[in-house]
Amino acid sequence: MSRTVYLNGDYLPEAEAKVSIFDRGFVMADGVYEVTSVLGGKLLDFAGHLARLTRSLNELGMDNPLPDEEWLAIHRKLVEVNAIDEGLVYLQVTRGNPGDRDFAFPPKDTPQTIVLFTQSKPGLAANPSAQTGIRVISVPDLRWSRRDIKTVQLLYPSLAKMEAKAKGADDAWLVEDGFVTEGTSNNTYIVKGGTIVTRQLSTDILHGITRAALLRFASEAQMKVEERPFTIEEAQEADEAFFTSASAFVLPVVEIDGKPVAGGKPGPVTTRLREIYLEESLKAAI
Ligand code: PMP
Repeated sequence: MSRTVYLNGDYLPEAEAKVSIFDRGFVMADGVYEVTSVLGGKLLDFAGHLARLTRSLNELGMDNPLPDEEWLAIHRKLVEVNAIDEGLVYLQVTRGNPGDRDFAFPPKDTPQTIVLFTQSKPGLAANPSAQTGIRVISVPDLRWSRRDIKTVQLLYPSLAKMEAKAKGADDAWLVEDGFVTEGTSNNTYIVKGGTIVTRQLSTDILHGITRAALLRFASEAQMKVEERPFTIEEAQEADEAFFTSASAFVLPVVEIDGKPVAGGKPGPVTTRLREIYLEESLKAAI
């Protein structure tokens, strides 16, 4: 079935939504994106995603092209017309079409390209990986050093994910200077002696919206949190390991570089955090 998508003010059948070959998003990866999960037809952590969108745009010298109410209206309309019960809304803003390829930015009044589409994912909340766990490999983090900006330059994470699959794993954790930065598309955690450990925010990692929510819920539940880097060896020996992202929520990691973590089974802290995250986020969904 053809989806309805949003492109620069219009709602169109997906086959009719066309972007210029000169678009800076296409030739320069000059664009940012957000992914918001939908559960029960409602948007999770929406305010957080919009705040990060504005921040990413500002860091690249772009304005946010739409007011918050308009972003919300577009998200809601796409969820409605595409009958999304469980799934996600993807949004992307690029620096637009300068009419030619040029490293220099186009004039500030060049219209930005705004694209949104939905992906239906029935069973998103009941992901079987929450029971079985995820196997990861470690790879060097070869991305640029402004990973706090959510740009569409996703080639290296994509290569890392393919390397993981080629090695029979599900995903890769990225390592820089001996420490885990984050996953290909998620923030990473270990649990040791009841304490949740995750790398502190900096330009080295994306400031996950799910991470922020999880740490808030964890401290409300009186769980101890330590924000510091950890190594692959420490993760392999931890009581539990897990990751968070808007589309996976909280998922256990049960194997790292072929070594089982937590006896190769999801641990109780991870399982509890997934429950809390889903429960609390659903309560606040809009
Ligand atoms: N790190 C990276 C590199 C990511 O791509 C993502 C997912 N977009 C995350 C972390 C998790 O962020 P969020 O919880 O906002 O989805």
